[in-house]
Amino acid sequence: MSQYVPRTRIGGLRGLAHGPLVGSSRLRLPGSPRRPRRIAMLSVHTSPLHQPGTGDAGGMNVYIVELARRLAAINIEVEIFTRATTGALPPSVELAPGVLVRHVDAGPYEGLAKEDLPAQLCAFTHGVMQAWAGHRPGYYDLVHSHYWLSGHVGWLAAERWGVPLVHAMHTMAKVKNAALAEGDTPEPAARVIGETQIVRAADRLVANTDEEAGELIRRYEAAPRKVAVVHPGVNLDRFRPGAGRAAARDRLGLPQDALIPLFAGRIQPLKAPDILLRAVAVLLDERPELRRRIVVPVVGGPSGTGLAKPESLQKLAARLGISDVVRFRPPVGQERLADWYRAASVLVMPSYSESFGLVAIEAQACGTPVIAAEVGGLPVAVRDGESGFLVHGHDPADYARALRRFADAPEFTDRMGAAAARHAESFGWDTAAAATADLYTAALQERRRLRSHHG
Ligand code: UDP
Repeated sequence: MSQYVPRTRIGGLRGLAHGPLVGSSRLRLPGSPRRPRRIAMLSVHTSPLHQPGTGDAGGMNVYIVELARRLAAINIEVEIFTRATTGALPPSVELAPGVLVRHVDAGPYEGLAKEDLPAQLCAFTHGVMQAWAGHRPGYYDLVHSHYWLSGHVGWLAAERWGVPLVHAMHTMAKVKNAALAEGDTPEPAARVIGETQIVRAADRLVANTDEEAGELIRRYEAAPRKVAVVHPGVNLDRFRPGAGRAAARDRLGLPQDALIPLFAGRIQPLKAPDILLRAVAVLLDERPELRRRIVVPVVGGPSGTGLAKPESLQKLAARLGISDVVRFRPPVGQERLADWYRAASVLVMPSYSESFGLVAIEAQACGTPVIAAEVGGLPVAVRDGESGFLVHGHDPADYARALRRFADAPEFTDRMGAAAARHAESFGWDTAAAATADLYTAALQERRRLRSHHG
């Protein structure tokens, strides 16, 4: 983790070393800063228990699960508050040792879209406060909120409990609105106002990349000293080359000699799966002989503004005359998804905006190169010319050109894939969790300093 310093990065936070670890207990040297013992994590609009890849569940859910597990492994307990979306849910579920998911009643279980949730934040906050009131004072050392809806709840909870608020935006309305796909609906002004309030209220803002840190400072006037950069990770036990491409193709029933450009993730205009289909149409126009050996899997389900026209991608494939080569598959668990990554010749991610893009790093960890739009966090996730290609803009012809390189030289996939796997190894979740723990410690430390300063 590094505190954001425009143009230069400083590694770690000076003077914030943890106490030495002895077995599983932590000794604290006199005067050394204290790490939190237990944090309240807020994920109002989507549960860490949901299957990512459709609706409101995506990278943020994966982020929260992986981070919480790793924090618990370094003795920071995590309680995750999320809205109950069915009546059958127990009040709490242990996700892993040291990680508890608490279901909060706020509004009807079903039929509430994310856009309706601002009206339920008061009810949600009430649920969080009730859980807190059942404990001794000081039960939670810190609040870590995810996405602006949770940030609003965190603002109040942190203030009431007298603890720091750490917030991660995951996506920002101003950034999304500046790069909308044609015809896509912009994020509402109420979200921009909400995000601006959270930026002011938070003790620390976690950005995925330097680029995102810059956006927080430029577009939301965040104080640079509050912004810290922590790259998300990838689960390197789950996402690895394993037995390789041929074995994965066998398991999925895919032809061994096929060119397989894969799209994986939530289907919505922002992610631009349509650009992949259009690029494939361009490629097939130029190289009709490829048709007999190309398979284009699209793994995921409709989400966001894509929910308004859930059939639009299928219709586009039909209009482009490529329905015979495109295979739509519903979202799958990550073990299965890892096989789709391994089987692919290349993952294609033509997004208009992407705060990081976990699928890009997951595919690389499986030994598969990536063609990605040069936006948001993707230039960090993908090493241009080494682990894949970055494409400037959204012209399907440019993506077709990049795809052609894999069509012309299938060995390219193995060569770039090996580099991709090496690149992905530097993105472990343990590193992300350790950096986040440092950031928590720094926020606590600062609070304590301020408190003693004010007597
Ligand atoms: N994912 C999944 N199953 C699927 C498709 C996607 O589990 O069928 C997961 C994927 O592993 C990744 C996340 O969904 O961790 C998507 O994260 P990303 O950052 O790429 O996009 P976001 O959803 O945050 O916009």
